[in-house]
Amino acid sequence: MEIVRSQRQLAAEAAAATGGGGAGALPTYRVAPQLEVRLEEFELFAIDRLRVLKGISDGLSRGKRPEEMEKLVSELWKAHMRHQDPAETLNKDIISHFVLRLVYCRTEELRKWFLSMEMTLFRYRFRLESPESQRLLMSEFQLPYKALPHSEFEAVKDKLSQVARSIGQSASVESVFFKVPFEEVPDLVASRRVFLSKGYAYVAMSQVVSLVVTQFRSNISKALVLTNRKWTSTIKEQEKDRLTPIVEALSNAYFGPDYSQPNDAAEISPKDIDQLARTSFPLCMRHMLEKLRENHHLKNGGRMQFGLFLKGAGLKLEDALTFWRAEFSQKVGSERFDKEYAYSIRHNYGKEGKRTDYTPYSCQKIISATPGVGDYHGCPYRHFGEENLRAALNNMGVSGNALEGILDKVKNRHYQLACTLTFEATHNVSCDTGINHPNQYFSESQKVLQAKNQTVQNQSST
Ligand code: SF4
Repeated sequence: MEIVRSQRQLAAEAAAATGGGGAGALPTYRVAPQLEVRLEEFELFAIDRLRVLKGISDGLSRGKRPEEMEKLVSELWKAHMRHQDPAETLNKDIISHFVLRLVYCRTEELRKWFLSMEMTLFRYRFRLESPESQRLLMSEFQLPYKALPHSEFEAVKDKLSQVARSIGQSASVESVFFKVPFEEVPDLVASRRVFLSKGYAYVAMSQVVSLVVTQFRSNISKALVLTNRKWTSTIKEQEKDRLTPIVEALSNAYFGPDYSQPNDAAEISPKDIDQLARTSFPLCMRHMLEKLRENHHLKNGGRMQFGLFLKGAGLKLEDALTFWRAEFSQKVGSERFDKEYAYSIRHNYGKEGKRTDYTPYSCQKIISATPGVGDYHGCPYRHFGEENLRAALNNMGVSGNALEGILDKVKNRHYQLACTLTFEATHNVSCDTGINHPNQYFSESQKVLQAKNQTVQNQSST
């Protein structure tokens, strides 16, 4: 795939010529198409696909059932990947997949995540294809299986019927089956959804998705390792001024609003901060406020993370200086605060140094921080030990099943989802978008509380 700033060929044509495209609307991504891509599309298409993959990741970690996942995948795809022109949709599909391969080939952890999300996406999209198109995809993957001959089918029909009944399907057995080595359909074997005999699994046409997904997984897995080699040996250096920064930023990308400009209605003052922390701050910010009150000091990482959050929540520069001075002066005196620390507060507001108006940190950025000894920034779901996290959540009024559910998400490293569940438990509402930014947590919380206050007022006035 060549990245240029000029006109490009249609990927659909290129894909058809090279095998990058699939039988119908679903490409198999076996070969990178020879096409030209505009730099803007390189990034924008990848961001849209990432929104789909992140939505899938969220759905999976929330434990959605297969029917719910099918609906979710189809909605995500429609929302982010569709185009009025079907050929453009296919272009976008293929280009975005290959760009993300580049982004996610770079570490074992990134490869694992990408592979798992792409497999899930492919699985649900395959299920939405017509039977004809599914057969074409099977031949595209060059799966060597032939439908079971009639005589062999008759010989095992009763067994097939028993398995069908045991998994809640109607007793009338499907008529097209494939006999495959059992290790090629591990998910079907593990969930006892196939009849096994002499090392073979009898896979019904409606289960063929497992065969195709196994093949898909193996192709993408190998391709990611090869892409990683190319990335390290040549691409990274060759593209250091153009693609490399985009690729490196994409795996950590945050797609929501940046909260750098709070609207005037959202102004907060230093005297509100403790009360707001109790009702509406996410755990990371509550923790830093607590430590600041306790030690009258926060190191630079904490001042940045917490200071920018407060700015995004609506604390104006003069109020920020008052707030920080009131704490720091208890430890270092006002004079030293004005000399050594006020600069960094003004700096956060773009009034010093390069005069950049700094943006509050997203969850992803906070989660990937590595706080050292004496630091209190970072994400408690990621950086606290279990005991401390339990105590902190108890302090927020979270206990019982809700608490165990949150700790379970933490064990599986779904930190933002753990924070989302905390939000849901403490506000008694569901938060389908998930928490992606501490300032989003804050503003969603304020919305919920304001709506509750409004309801109480309405009730008391009637
Ligand atoms: Fe803060 Fe985000 Fe971690 Fe929640 S998930 S505690 S908002 S960094």
